[in-house]
Amino acid sequence: MSAIWTEEDTATEATPQDKILKIERETHKLEKRLCRQVGQAIVDYNMIEEGDKVMVCVSGGKDSYAMLDILLKLRARAPIHFDLIAVNLDQKQPGFPEEVLPKYLSELGVPFHIENQDTYSIVKRVIPEGKTTCGLCSRLRRGILYRVADELGATKVALGHHRDDMLQTFFLNMFFAGKLKSMPPKLVSDDGRHIVIRPLANVAEKDLVRWAQHREFPIIPCTLCGSQENLQRKQVAEMLREWEKKHPGRIENMFTALQNVVPSHLLDGTRHDFKGLKATGAADEEGDKAFDAPDFSLAATAPSALRIVQL
Ligand code: SF4
Repeated sequence: MSAIWTEEDTATEATPQDKILKIERETHKLEKRLCRQVGQAIVDYNMIEEGDKVMVCVSGGKDSYAMLDILLKLRARAPIHFDLIAVNLDQKQPGFPEEVLPKYLSELGVPFHIENQDTYSIVKRVIPEGKTTCGLCSRLRRGILYRVADELGATKVALGHHRDDMLQTFFLNMFFAGKLKSMPPKLVSDDGRHIVIRPLANVAEKDLVRWAQHREFPIIPCTLCGSQENLQRKQVAEMLREWEKKHPGRIENMFTALQNVVPSHLLDGTRHDFKGLKATGAADEEGDKAFDAPDFSLAATAPSALRIVQL
């Protein structure tokens, strides 16, 4: 017998029913993971507290739809009471489908507010043709959203940035601004009046893509303003994708690293008192072994909260 038995020959064909069950199982796992990661971020960074009114900024992109979706699920089972209000800023970009979000949010049954402000015309008028418009556009948007937060009595402002946005920002700051700086999961706004939170801080973008497909969010394209996509961010995103392809797990390790900062082993004298450093005279098993080669075999384990190790 010369027949070659390949895997395909022997494998049992999956029936359409099997395939449906597999998709359902995967989707269920994805939902659980998203809820767990968002819940963990909320706990680790104390993002939402009893009685909070969270203004969820919804742009019409996959990330903010997913953020609202998961926050609604978590609120239904949370041990504390908090309110959510979805807010969209309609910047009057040409072709913006203004009926999409009100329809979606009404059907969802979540309180919402649409703020109509023609920042598009201001930006077009002020910025010369060919120059990037994003700086002024974001500044205007930020001011408007903080005012709206005040008017609505919101105690927290939630933005839909995810883990990959944070890593990209980290590398952008390192490459182009000479800073070790990412995007914080929680911050006080520059006007000092608002707490901004990023509940998707632990979530991978690829999971948000899959969730958006599953939930069939009515996505509004983000290119309506006609501005060119940020080229540097695009390049960094591509670099990270390539690294992950060649070295699976690298993104996860880098993200863990952002939560394990060791100022004594960087070079910033404002974070660690190098000048005043004195020998203690006492041996320390956990101390630094400066002459030994670094040992990377003990991979860092993900901490449950942002930890700055003071050595
Ligand atoms: S891409 Fe367009 S809408 Fe977004 S910040 Fe830039 S100018 Fe504003």
